[in-house]
Amino acid sequence: MIVYTATRVRTHTEAGTIDAACVVVDDEGLIAWVGPLADLPQAHRDAPRRHVDGTIMPGLIDTHVHLGFDGGPAPVDRMNAESDPEQLVLMLRNARELLSAGVTTARDLGARGYLDVVVRDAIVRGDARGPRMIVSGAPLTPTGGHCWFMGGEADGGYELRTAVRRHHEHDVDSIKIMSTGGFMTKGSAPWFAQYREDELRLAIDDAHRLGKKAVAHAHGIQGIRHAVRAGIDALEHCTFVASDGSLGFDAQVADEIAERGVYVSFTLNVLAWQMLRGDSGGFVDHLAMVVRELRQRGVPIVTGTDAGIDLAPHHAYSAGLEVLSAMGMPIEDVLLAATAVSSRSMGLDDITGVLQPGMAADLIGVAGDPAVDLACLGRPMLVVAFGVPFSPDPYPDLEALPSRTVAGPAALAHDH
Ligand SMILES: [Zn+2]
Repeated sequence: MIVYTATRVRTHTEAGTIDAACVVVDDEGLIAWVGPLADLPQAHRDAPRRHVDGTIMPGLIDTHVHLGFDGGPAPVDRMNAESDPEQLVLMLRNARELLSAGVTTARDLGARGYLDVVVRDAIVRGDARGPRMIVSGAPLTPTGGHCWFMGGEADGGYELRTAVRRHHEHDVDSIKIMSTGGFMTKGSAPWFAQYREDELRLAIDDAHRLGKKAVAHAHGIQGIRHAVRAGIDALEHCTFVASDGSLGFDAQVADEIAERGVYVSFTLNVLAWQMLRGDSGGFVDHLAMVVRELRQRGVPIVTGTDAGIDLAPHHAYSAGLEVLSAMGMPIEDVLLAATAVSSRSMGLDDITGVLQPGMAADLIGVAGDPAVDLACLGRPMLVVAFGVPFSPDPYPDLEALPSRTVAGPAALAHDH
């Protein structure tokens, strides 16, 4: 039993934010009690205490990472050059890096050889430190399609369905499908749909039958439409690139996303954060328009960063939250997106994402008040995951990170 006290505790429940409050964590790693310190039940008064001069809030969630990419200048080259044991070392490093950034739950949306399953289980056992991982194995993609090198090639609906079952056999949690191409992979382009709607439906229906959420990588409007109509649970990127490669928008597709309750992650990260401060060739304005249009329709926005892709290291998580705020999303909504809403999107809302009794003790402590300045999230003082405290490792400030030389839609080139 340990009592974490703070200047304020953000519960992200109806209890709201409580001043001079505390969170009691039991020996099973669950939250036993949350409330004002003055009301702390007698039974917990003698337990050891740790004080955070600032804010305690639910641990952060990244719904889109790649543990197998190193966030350096050429992560795909490194993945392809590495043996499985070398990849595992990198993946464990990146899991620890995410935890240092205050990310206590993360979903890997593309890894090789079911190594993500191994990492997830090692963390649960306590053999390694990292976030609670939701893993999806290799993304499903046509032969030679976007990210084919991870090993998830499947052509047409029936092969897609078989691939879903194979992933289930290997104990993945969710299914990632490349609904459109990307700039990065030769012969694939982000505005082309890679599968028809009926093909996607075969895979998505089977994922649901097996109790898994299905997530689509989708840049182009056609690929977004196919995935939404086929019953996808969440869209990644969702940039609305038109078939001529220009930046477009489709109000009818946006309406359908809203009507079907599909969650959207714009995979905003430190690269977008850098573009905000420089010349993005209109790309940031375009993305801000899409964010605004979808929010107006009530589409639930979640936080994912595509961590690990070129020059987007895992420790830079907080940059993406600052971008959402700069794009007009109120800070309170950003903080909920990064915790309770992202948790719900993955079906984890009875486990993590809010601070209340019975939930996993996944929480962070930061100096200052994130409701006033999100930047304080960049340096958590305390991270608790699965109820076990962790001292964050030091990493460079966002300002010190190298930036890309490309801007505008070409910046999508490295999205996975
Ligand atoms: Zn990705």
